[in-house]
Amino acid sequence: MDTAEKRIVVVANRLPVRRVEGSTEWETSPGGLVSSLTPFLQDRDGCWVGWAGVADEEIENFSHDGIEQRPVPISAEEIEDYYYGFCNGTIWPLYHDAVRTPEFHRHWWGPYEEVNRRFAREAAWSVNPDDIAWVQDYQLQLVPGYLREQRPDVTIGFYLHIPFPPVELFAQLPWRTQIIEGILGADVIAFQTALGLANFARAAQRFTSARRRGKLLEYGDRTIKLQRAPIAIDTAHFAALAQSPLAVTRAEALRREVHDRKVILGVDRLDYTKGIDIRLRAFETLLERNPRRENEFVFIQVAVPSREGVGQYTEMRNRIEQIVGHINGRFGHPGHVPVHYLYRNLPQDELVAYYLLADVMAVTPLRDGMNLVAKEYVATRLDNTGVLLLSEFTGAAESLSQALLVNPHDVDGLSGALAEAVDLPGADMKKRMVAMRRYVKRNDIYDWARRCLGELRA
Ligand code: UDP
Repeated sequence: MDTAEKRIVVVANRLPVRRVEGSTEWETSPGGLVSSLTPFLQDRDGCWVGWAGVADEEIENFSHDGIEQRPVPISAEEIEDYYYGFCNGTIWPLYHDAVRTPEFHRHWWGPYEEVNRRFAREAAWSVNPDDIAWVQDYQLQLVPGYLREQRPDVTIGFYLHIPFPPVELFAQLPWRTQIIEGILGADVIAFQTALGLANFARAAQRFTSARRRGKLLEYGDRTIKLQRAPIAIDTAHFAALAQSPLAVTRAEALRREVHDRKVILGVDRLDYTKGIDIRLRAFETLLERNPRRENEFVFIQVAVPSREGVGQYTEMRNRIEQIVGHINGRFGHPGHVPVHYLYRNLPQDELVAYYLLADVMAVTPLRDGMNLVAKEYVATRLDNTGVLLLSEFTGAAESLSQALLVNPHDVDGLSGALAEAVDLPGADMKKRMVAMRRYVKRNDIYDWARRCLGELRA
């Protein structure tokens, strides 16, 4: 078969569709990943294997938007042990530099193996000889290995969307060898950053017989390719939104509402990896150090609800809301609220209005696989104004080196960087933004999909 005709089967924790609220209809989930892969799957009669998002439901295969959907059932108990447990209580914190202590429970590992086996079984049924199975992310690290046992005739890819940690941290994981062996079932293993790739290669050599040779790993009688492929955004789509009358008018209205003050913006899922609390403390320090300029700045934090009901997330939310209250109590007065806190998910055009409003975009995660918000901000700044303050511990920092790079753990350093950002001379601001905009234009999500799938077809 001509390699260009190989079918692509995406295997991901979630299907690219979700139920329309209050209906049995399906709609495409928003996001660049889905829209960039859709043409490849439609063209080549591909399909998508994933969970439909509802526990304890057996759903027949169906087609949506020209793509066959193959739902994998997950029980409510597995959601607790596999998803909230092993995926988000063990792997998520461990892979994000253990900024929260990872929990190791044997009763979470079993369900992780079991659910991964189920995904691999469904994938094995879905592929034809010579097809490409492309497995996504930390929820399914065992799938490449299980799938290879059943279908050695297909090409298997694995893409890790989150960081891969330094071997010294990864070594804590009681199931470290099984995880590495699972991933090594793939023919191509791709990462967001050069650092993630290097960390994985070290771990593979430490815990298995794999040996690195440049961008290859020799493992038994197989040669596995390692790829750095930073994920990107639909740059043209965000640039178009930035010109839409809705976003422009909304941004103007918001600017009037903040009385033309300088706006520092944070936009994050409410997650302990995002460094929101330290960022707020840095803003407080900025106000403290500039008593005569207190009224010049507002900080807007959009915090998108996430993993609600999980203890560590509730704690984090309470802590952030307490800091917001503290700063507003200390520096606010009638007519001026220093911190505006929005605990909700904004629709994209509204979000873009906030990007247009922001003089400074503060992206300061303690560790982040990529951070798309940073790239989206840049893509919307068509007039080359605006300053991006970016944590050096994000994947985005590897590419957007013209941002003001900061250590997100350092309150004083962050506060200094905020002070620099709000007063950055226009020429410097423009030079940095022009270079970053060039990068996000040249490297969009469609290039990313082409590069990843190109490597799998090679
Ligand atoms: N986002 C959104 N509405 C909001 C806030 C964020 O649609 O109110 C989107 C944002 O456009 C971005 C994504 O959520 O595409 C967040 O991705 P990112 O990589 O920054 O962080 P993640 O949530 O994946 O850790």
